[in-house]
Amino acid sequence: MTDLHRLSIRELSEGLKQAQFSSRELAEHYLKRIAHIDPKVKSYVTVTAEQALAEADAADAVLKSGNAHALAGIPLAHKDIFCTQGIKTTAGSKMLDNFISPYDATVVAKAKAAGLVTLGKVNMDEFAMGSTSENSYFGATSNPWALDRVPGGSSGGSAAAVAADLAPIATGTDTGGSIRQPASFCGLTGLKPTYGRVSRFGMIAYASSLDQGGPMARSAEDCAYLMNVIAGHDAKDSTSINKEVDDYVANLNGTAVKGLRIGIPKQYFNVAGLDADVKARVEESLKKLEEMGATLVEIDLNMTEAYVPTYYLIAPAEASSNLSRYDGVRYGYRCENPKDILDLYKRSRSEGFGAEVQRRILIGTYALSAGYYDAYYVKAQKVRRLIQQDFLKAFENVDVIAAPSAPTTAYKIGANLSPTEMYLGDIYTLAVNLAGLPAINAPVGFDQDSLPVGLQLIGNYWSESQLLSIVHQYQQHTDWHTKRAAIAEENA
Ligand code: GLN
Repeated sequence: MTDLHRLSIRELSEGLKQAQFSSRELAEHYLKRIAHIDPKVKSYVTVTAEQALAEADAADAVLKSGNAHALAGIPLAHKDIFCTQGIKTTAGSKMLDNFISPYDATVVAKAKAAGLVTLGKVNMDEFAMGSTSENSYFGATSNPWALDRVPGGSSGGSAAAVAADLAPIATGTDTGGSIRQPASFCGLTGLKPTYGRVSRFGMIAYASSLDQGGPMARSAEDCAYLMNVIAGHDAKDSTSINKEVDDYVANLNGTAVKGLRIGIPKQYFNVAGLDADVKARVEESLKKLEEMGATLVEIDLNMTEAYVPTYYLIAPAEASSNLSRYDGVRYGYRCENPKDILDLYKRSRSEGFGAEVQRRILIGTYALSAGYYDAYYVKAQKVRRLIQQDFLKAFENVDVIAAPSAPTTAYKIGANLSPTEMYLGDIYTLAVNLAGLPAINAPVGFDQDSLPVGLQLIGNYWSESQLLSIVHQYQQHTDWHTKRAAIAEENA
């Protein structure tokens, strides 16, 4: 079969179970595509061909036995922020270019246990700080829809790999939008779960109170399959919540769009940088949901202006603390010929970290320093609480909240936006992490340059099933999620 990469996760699962093709054939098919097409996209940092084939053979054996997991034998790509035993884990940084993890992240271990086949590790902004993937030490990844554009970030490699059909599904992480924004830029479905739903163990920390892993795929149905594997309590992550996990696949039709109350925040649609095409496509998608029986309710989210400053204090503060462990001593990059211990720290960190990471360490250290702690960090925490309360108040009256995922479509590679311009592009995604809520991106059309536009739906705590279900039903009535970039149509 030459078009295995066009099959959904459900179709792949059925095809494998009925032995229409083997997991080895599937892995070989994807590896061949990666070899031919990825040099143009540059989504992979590491391709684990040998291991993938061994895992595929093992999956084939389990499939023959007849009691395989639904995802056994299906390939996936991991964001290079998830530790993989025996395989390089870089977090997009020179600092970890030589780092081979001695253990698997829980997400990786769960995927392995289900029999998923790891194709490799995909590119990202260094330590997940960025919105374009250009901050990677390994260079920029291209957006499959326009190779001179960014795929978004920080999970840009995950998005590009799936959008170019170089992996059927991928893991991503979202601290302030890093699953939803690249999904939006690349025309994919991506879910940021409730904080605590997916284990952070072995997921390299950026801002621990905001970081959350999740699935990136073509459809809500595909995301649901991966969520069924990665969600759940983990004793190794103290912020993981011990709460029953939904069957996200079984629940795909569980929420009726008919009667659903969708909140439309006034403030969100008046943001200065909101592109006219993005606004139009998002409004059309809401109209469609209205036709399907939903009610649109105008709401207020009065804290909107505080999102960017609050996040860009809290996230760098946590980052400055988390990244203090990279000191050149036990693992990671070490400078040549250090004079003394101070020189070792200083040069290892200045040579090992890129500019954006250093900027954030400086901002965070400043905000946490004795004289400024109350004025910046404590203040930001108080505002964070107000942002959360703003959402909770809104959810008293609506079931979900709609927004764009990003104010624009994908930027040109090398556009070289200033840090503040770049940070303002995160306006629609940051608050969800500050409040710990789940949210999903769904593709809803294209702008005048044929670049994908995404709709974001924000749910109340633990509403992952509801969000997946709403998008699934939308995707039964529309075909945006089935559109493929020209490069994905290429055969290897
Ligand atoms: N773009 C945001 C940042 O640069 C969010 C990144 C993320 O979610 N990891 O911090």
